[in-house]
Amino acid sequence: MSGILDGKKIVVMGAANRRSIAWGCVKAIKKQGAQVILTYQNDRIKKMLSRIDDDDPKIECDVAEDANIKKAFDEIHDQFGNIDGVVHAIAYADKKTLTSGLHSVERKGYNLAQDISAYSFIAVSRYASQIMNPGGSIATLTYMGSTRAIPNYNMMGVAKAALESSVRYLAAELGKAKDIRVNAISAGAIRTLSVTGIKHHKQLLDMSKARTVDGKSVTIDEVGNAMSFILSDLASGVTGDTIFVDKGVHLIA
Ligand code: NAD
Repeated sequence: MSGILDGKKIVVMGAANRRSIAWGCVKAIKKQGAQVILTYQNDRIKKMLSRIDDDDPKIECDVAEDANIKKAFDEIHDQFGNIDGVVHAIAYADKKTLTSGLHSVERKGYNLAQDISAYSFIAVSRYASQIMNPGGSIATLTYMGSTRAIPNYNMMGVAKAALESSVRYLAAELGKAKDIRVNAISAGAIRTLSVTGIKHHKQLLDMSKARTVDGKSVTIDEVGNAMSFILSDLASGVTGDTIFVDKGVHLIA
């Protein structure tokens, strides 16, 4: 079957289980003809991932250290050659930081959330771009809590604002230097492992669902399909953008 990603090699970072947005991306990207290389945070996640995927190659990459990211992309290059795209679907904040209001967030928690959720995208873009073919595409996942004060999203909203700004600067730099596009998909709220760390996450999910145009939450498959487009040559004119895939939640006041 021919697809819009035929012949491309795409690295997907952040699949942990069947509910992960990254997993929706893996399924959609493969359906469109690409070869997928997965990265996982640690042995625990590798075990979880292996339960749902036993055929795609998997490389360890804890993004907390630049050396790990460099090593992972070196390994990917050694084993698979140049790549054509990366999906960065990674975020983290510790429980205390996530559950206290922003005014109570301490320096350590702030730095950790920014480090894993925003800085890691810069480092990933650096090392990925070194082994990426011209015309390649790098994309991350964000949420509209970056521009609106969503109840209980707090620190993660601040990190997502930095992430979206990074998308614009990286798009300007890497477009010019290497013909690589950089974008973000702003997904609607979906019940995943990460979301359960947010205080009163059920309210967040219910509120989001109630505000979609058809009363149904967006799915990881719908996000994956939009991601396939962003990674494909059909999106050659799209860069530095944050594209909403939330079934219209961002429209409703
Ligand atoms: P998830 O829990 O399935 O995925 C989060 C992933 O981040 C996990 O695979 C985890 O291993 C990885 N991760 C955390 N720390 C890491 C580290 N140090 N090194 C490497 N990997 C690390 O949850 P998800 O909701 O699929 O999250 C994926 C992305 O989508 C995140 O950026 C999240 O903020 C974003 N997002 C989620 C929603 C939602 O409602 N679920 C909405 C918009 C955006």
